[in-house]
Amino acid sequence: MQMISRASSAMASFPCSKVQKGYPVWPGVRQFCFRKGVIYGFMRLLSVPLKTLRGASRSIRVAQFCSVVNVSSSLQIELVPCLRDNYAYLLHDVDTGTVGVVDPSEAVPIIDALSRKNRNLTYILNTHHHHDHTGGNAALKVRYGAKVIGSGTDEDRIPGIDITLNDGDKWMFAGHEVLVMETPGHTRGHISFYFPGSGVIFTGDTLFSLSCGKLFEGTPEQMLSSLGKIMSLPDDTAIYCGHEYTLSNSKFALSIEPQNEELQSYATHVAHLRNKGLPTIPTTLKMEKACNPFLRTSSLEIRQSLNITATADDAVALGVIRQAKNDF
Ligand SMILES: [Zn+2]
Repeated sequence: MQMISRASSAMASFPCSKVQKGYPVWPGVRQFCFRKGVIYGFMRLLSVPLKTLRGASRSIRVAQFCSVVNVSSSLQIELVPCLRDNYAYLLHDVDTGTVGVVDPSEAVPIIDALSRKNRNLTYILNTHHHHDHTGGNAALKVRYGAKVIGSGTDEDRIPGIDITLNDGDKWMFAGHEVLVMETPGHTRGHISFYFPGSGVIFTGDTLFSLSCGKLFEGTPEQMLSSLGKIMSLPDDTAIYCGHEYTLSNSKFALSIEPQNEELQSYATHVAHLRNKGLPTIPTTLKMEKACNPFLRTSSLEIRQSLNITATADDAVALGVIRQAKNDF
């Protein structure tokens, strides 16, 4: 019941929404937004000094100006491309005007996005300490006085941290409940932010579309456990991850599970989106369960492709898949 009402509320937020074979995107809206983005971007190009042209053209390519999704009646998420392939996300509570940002890799694109709508910034949420997720913290704190929120495990590594949270903690963002899930494996202090009321989770570099993060500070067992926590959420949970890696991930996934028909059609769809310069994020948990090899460690086809025995446990399989991905 809860899943049905959430799905219908997400659809209702798009006036011309259509669900295409269960894909977690709304192509009509995105194409409209893309055209609008190009027009806006062209006008902006005419109005900016030459030295900023490079940044402006990058913005047009990823059509960032209209990537706003209403995930509930009062919460909007805006995708903000940063650096080469990172995404930061602006959270906007429509009722109070409160704004937060998840993983600001750099400050300038966030300031641009806020300035366009004349908004302030109250919170900075970090999934982990890596610079491409926290690089904007200091400048955004100085400019807006925003509070930095991150893992208690990483309070010594997250720049400017003000509020520490740990596994199972509940934190409120302008009336929206946020559940903190420790999801170590990529780093030991990695956390994910789950918004149960909106059916949205920010997974940083733990779960990507069609992959998971590299195991810099963790074991396959830890990553398997972290992914298992995320997999326990409802299938229609929207997954917002830290990078636009989906197209290259799809090539690896297809190489080890070529007969997976859902993966074949999702990979085609992903290539189509990227050809148009559009984001593949958010994805859904349902799609990832069907296609992401790191959530499919029991797949016989994957195991046969990588010579993993049928009796090997899932953590062993995940470790082998991760190594194969590193080498791909
Ligand atoms: Zn990272």
